Amino acid sequence: MAFGEFDLIETYFTHRLPKRDDVEIGIGDDGAVTRVPDNSDLVIVTDTMVQGVHFDEDTPARAVGHKIVAVNLSDLAAMGAEPAWISLAISLPQVNQEWLTGFAHGLREICDYYSCQLIGGDTTQGPLSITVTAHGFVPRGKAVRRDGAKPGDWLYVSGTLGDAGLALAARQHRRKLNPDYQRRLTERLYFPSPRVALGQSLRGIASSAIDVSDGLLADIKHVLKASHVGARISVDELPLSMALTESLSAEDALTYALTSGDDYELLFTVPESQRGLFDTVTAHSPSKPVCIGRITSDAEVLQLRHGDEPWELPETAHGFEHFSASAIESD
Ligand SMILES: [Mg+2]
Repeated sequence: MAFGEFDLIETYFTHRLPKRDDVEIGIGDDGAVTRVPDNSDLVIVTDTMVQGVHFDEDTPARAVGHKIVAVNLSDLAAMGAEPAWISLAISLPQVNQEWLTGFAHGLREICDYYSCQLIGGDTTQGPLSITVTAHGFVPRGKAVRRDGAKPGDWLYVSGTLGDAGLALAARQHRRKLNPDYQRRLTERLYFPSPRVALGQSLRGIASSAIDVSDGLLADIKHVLKASHVGARISVDELPLSMALTESLSAEDALTYALTSGDDYELLFTVPESQRGLFDTVTAHSPSKPVCIGRITSDAEVLQLRHGDEPWELPETAHGFEHFSASAIESD
């Protein structure tokens, strides 16, 4: 079956995908026509995954289909947006029906779950690469931004960190895990859960938010820079999975939690004045946000603390190249 013999998007992606009332024209015309609810802003995000860069050849197609949508919905979540539509561009070396079926399955499952409609797409021949653009809504003016953190705000993370990074290290034979942990952590690497509901509940409560895609230390820098503030993080408070703590030394576990990416948790700040409301809103949330520190007035200075002592990342830290050591100061 050669490229161009039929429309791949039509064949693999239009059936059994959610249909929304706000889509006037979906796949099948030159462009999609959609309706944004009154008094809402449209939030648009894009992410690309390239084989050999973002995922390896052994990654199941279903996982790739899930993840390319999940990483986009994670960006929408970090803005406080409700997902609505996605468009998809795939470049494929050849038409591999088995791969496309698995990929479409993974994509469909997560789109179904979030009532997200595929409204357009394109396929070309080339190295395996997938780009998704996702669109979502926030009430007008209510998007959660990176630049609103203020000194004194509390710093939270929505769930355990380092799990996906350790799964990747095990897959690449850099670490050895017991089979149960390997299975659980690989699930986090392959099928990340975007914190969509939590992100929306943070509107009007969080002063800033970002999703942790490149690692906590790498991503917090964006918030500190945009908000012109610093942060103090207590490494003792970092949420760590049992799989992580039981597989690594204490120092290595913290290093993974701070520097490895792909966990797609939310990192956000809550002013003291909103903390009661935040606790009420998240009391029944499936993700249990954990307070890991506080925003300071020292612009772009990040302090890591272990008890009352400064804590430093070991110099050999995995992923150390992903962030600038000069941004880290331990007093
Ligand atoms: Mg992001």
